Order: sequence, then C-alpha cells, then structure tokens
Amino acid sequence: MDRKSFIKASMLIPFLGMEIKDFEEALGENALMEKMPVLFVGHGNPMNAIMPNEYSKKWKAIGEQLPTPKAILCVSAHWQTRGTQVTAMPQPKTIHDFGGFPKSLFEVEYPAPGISSALAQKTIEAIKEVHVTKDFEWGLDHGCWSVLKPMFPKANIPTFQLSLDYLSKPETHFKIGMQLQSLRQKGVLIIGSGNLVHNLGKLSHENKPHDWAIEFDELAKNKILEGNFASLVGYKGLGKAASLSIPTNEHYLPLLYTLALKQSSDSLQFFNESIDMGSISMRSLLIGA
Ligand code: ZN
Repeated sequence: MDRKSFIKASMLIPFLGMEIKDFEEALGENALMEKMPVLFVGHGNPMNAIMPNEYSKKWKAIGEQLPTPKAILCVSAHWQTRGTQVTAMPQPKTIHDFGGFPKSLFEVEYPAPGISSALAQKTIEAIKEVHVTKDFEWGLDHGCWSVLKPMFPKANIPTFQLSLDYLSKPETHFKIGMQLQSLRQKGVLIIGSGNLVHNLGKLSHENKPHDWAIEFDELAKNKILEGNFASLVGYKGLGKAASLSIPTNEHYLPLLYTLALKQSSDSLQFFNESIDMGSISMRSLLIGA
C-alpha cells in the first residue's frame, strides 16, 4: 500500500459505515488529491479523432501517461457564447459541429458522463472574474471529443465544457483561466483545445508551412519558454505574423486558459510541434506532469 492509500485507509476507520463519497466530503473535498497537470492541445483536422497519425498517437500516449482524472474540463475553440457558460447536464451529447467530412466521422460518439451539479457549482464559484451560468443544452463539441477519443478511449471520465464569451477581452479569458486553479487540486484535468496558428483561408494542399506561420509559432514558443504570457495575451501587438496566424481568436484563446494555470513550480513540455496543412500549428503543451 502506498503512502496515500495508507493515509486514506487509516483515516477511514472513524468513518466506518459511511459511503466513500461521504467520507471524502467529511474529509474536506479531495484533501489528499495531487494537483492535476494541464494541457493545451492543438486539435487541427477533426479526422485526427479517428485517424491514427503522429498527432493522435501522441494524444493516446499522453492519456496513458497521465494520472486518471476525476473529471475533465475542456475549454474548446468551438463553443463561443454571449456570457460564460459551463455545461452541467448528466449525459452530454456528442456534437458533430463540422461539414464535408466522411460519414464515419459523423458516426463517432463519445458517451462520457457529465459532471455532478456540485462540481458545476464549484466551477462557477471559482470564477470571480465574470458571472458564469449553467448550460443544459450544449454537450461535447469536436474540439473536446476529437482529442479525448484517442486520449481517453473508454469515455468513462465525467467531462464538461466551459464556453468562450466572444465579447470578452483576451485579458479576461486569461484571468478566468487563473481562477480555475483550484479545480486542478480537485483532480480535474483542464484542457484548452484550439490551435496556436489557425488560418483556414490559407491552407496549403502541398502541406508546406507558410513563413509567417513558422515565425509566429516560434515566437509564441519562445514567449512561453520565457514565461512572458502577458505578451501572448497582448498578441495583437505582435505584428503581421500574429495577425495572419490569428485572423479570428477562438482557436488561440484556449491557449491563454492553459498558460494562466502554469505555476512557477510546474514543468512544461511541448508536443506535436509541427504545422499541418500550411497554416495550422499543432504545437501543444503539457504543464505540471
Ligand atoms: Zn477547431
């Protein structure tokens, strides 16, 4: 028995007769939980969900490497709303929010359970920066499930999403990200899912990365390594390569949530460091693993 299990077992004695869930609550929720890592995943082409390739193979490997989360919170590029919302339904549906892909992709289901209304409430209470409301309509969009399908194929971990308010400034998104820190301690794996460079109007069928895409991807990598997140929040001041890489910011903003959660003691690793289809950076980050 390892140290944590021993402590847990020995503390159980005074609570004999209680359900484990009640016991954990009596202890003060997840008092023995280690801080979960945080991810930013460049999701790219929705077909990555079902095509074994260099990207999805890495997602699978990360799923095998990480401790099993108690819940997964996705901040996906594909859920933009007026105001910030958190999904709170018991069984989120799989949303096929794309067009022009093979039938096999539309048939994919990711039937992960939703979260308890208590965890939705805790998420809302953690976020002081803005007023957050519960949503019972959305589900899991492909920014979330296309990554989770290879990463956690059993679909048995409660999963929920936090929306991006399309009227909020990048600074506000970053501050909301910071306020999610307490969820890591509760065993929640937070995943920002988007793409650091994302310009669908400039896709290259020769798969040759544009110079400006390479330039901004490198610049962002260096800012991340320097810990200069403020300049990434202020990406509009980073020149022409930035504006070509971020023509609209919904795929970029999830990165800010992930960076906001990095504490000085957290490790940082990049993975899938390549540019797909000329104008989509797949660069991803694993923090605190
Ligand atoms: Zn996308």
